[in-house]
Amino acid sequence: MKRTNTFAVRPLSPTGKQLLRDLLDASAALWNETNYERLIRYEDEDGHENEDVWDADTGSLEGKYKDILGASTAQQVIRKNSEAWRGFFENKKKHHDDSDTSITDHPTPPGFWGNKDDGRKLHTVIRNTSYTVEWGERSRLEILVGSELKDRYDHTGRLRLELAGEPNWPEYEKQGRLDLWYDETDSTFRASQPVTVSDDARATPLADETAALDIGANNLVACTTTTGSQYLYCGSHPFERFRETTERIAKLKAELDDQRRTSERIDSLYDAMYGRRDHVQDALVRDLVERLYDEGVSTVYVGDIKDVLETHWIPEVNAKTHNFWAYRRFIDRLECVCEEYGIVVVEESESWTTQECPECGEREETERNGDLFRCVCGFEGHADLKASQLFLERETGMKVGLMAQPVCFEWDDHEWSERSYSPARASPKEDHTDRSTRRTVGKVASVESA
Ligand SMILES: [Zn+2]
Repeated sequence: MKRTNTFAVRPLSPTGKQLLRDLLDASAALWNETNYERLIRYEDEDGHENEDVWDADTGSLEGKYKDILGASTAQQVIRKNSEAWRGFFENKKKHHDDSDTSITDHPTPPGFWGNKDDGRKLHTVIRNTSYTVEWGERSRLEILVGSELKDRYDHTGRLRLELAGEPNWPEYEKQGRLDLWYDETDSTFRASQPVTVSDDARATPLADETAALDIGANNLVACTTTTGSQYLYCGSHPFERFRETTERIAKLKAELDDQRRTSERIDSLYDAMYGRRDHVQDALVRDLVERLYDEGVSTVYVGDIKDVLETHWIPEVNAKTHNFWAYRRFIDRLECVCEEYGIVVVEESESWTTQECPECGEREETERNGDLFRCVCGFEGHADLKASQLFLERETGMKVGLMAQPVCFEWDDHEWSERSYSPARASPKEDHTDRSTRRTVGKVASVESA
């Protein structure tokens, strides 16, 4: 299994810190020069896009930087840039393929890692044989440094750094290319280390319980388990931040002169926005799967993508939520973390779970307003939690007896923390009460008004 260890990294001295900064800065400069050489070959003077990017003379760039970075690191930075370009060309192909709905935004070429005037984004990549990690009482990372940097700081050997935190995967068979960067949001150096771990490292489920998820944009995940627990992860705060950033980007784009489609400011806003979204999603998946594991869950049901897209792709909502939602990415993460715990993920159709009343089975005369679901029979409940419960009952063929109150989580920019459950309320901003859930289409309805 491929896994990733992430950890904070601390230089051992002010000199070590400055050396590390110089190393990351030079890597960013090399990335930028490589990217620039490719970008000018991609767009010629007539604005024709072509794939001559591979003609860029990266060999001389490698030569220019190898004394500072070390030859292997210079090669890895260039290789990472090549991967970014290949990814871009693949996305472009997908974007122009109508049968593929995974890419909705027009793909843009790889961006720069900051710039000289405003500061480069401090980042490097280190080949698997050019660093060592040791876990123990004094965990440490040692990385290769070029001769010019050693001379500049009167340093010999590899640069030793202290590691903070516990790795998820302390024992592994192989390590991959290390990413090392400076996180400006909390002024910390961080690293991620891809590792290959033996299949024996996988956990076994504690029992044979089942869970079902209802996934949306308003509430990112609503979950019911056969043990009678319910979990709700509220998406309004992260979605609001995502929306603010897309609006800022749109404004900046409108101010650009016609010749240019993007700017460094825009690129970095995109990076930050998707970085935050991925962070929210990854933290959610881990939090949820750990809870499910503790409850003895061995199988998780989740709506299949075709079904989810049909239910939620209202055109005007689509553009705003699709990128935020990143359903496919969510499922991939879910499968990956579930695998660690020996939990199986099954994609099944969840049709009608949004509209159907759990009390009487009514589908037509039900309504949704905000998070509140109501039926003509008098049933009232939280729309998404109810949908996940119905989904679970349908897949297991069993009635679920709910225990206590649902547990709710809110995102505070760092982690998901518990807050007290408040029963579903109708949305105060709008009145959807005269419309059935079939027309307001469940979980994205209130996003429209956001
Ligand atoms: Zn009913």
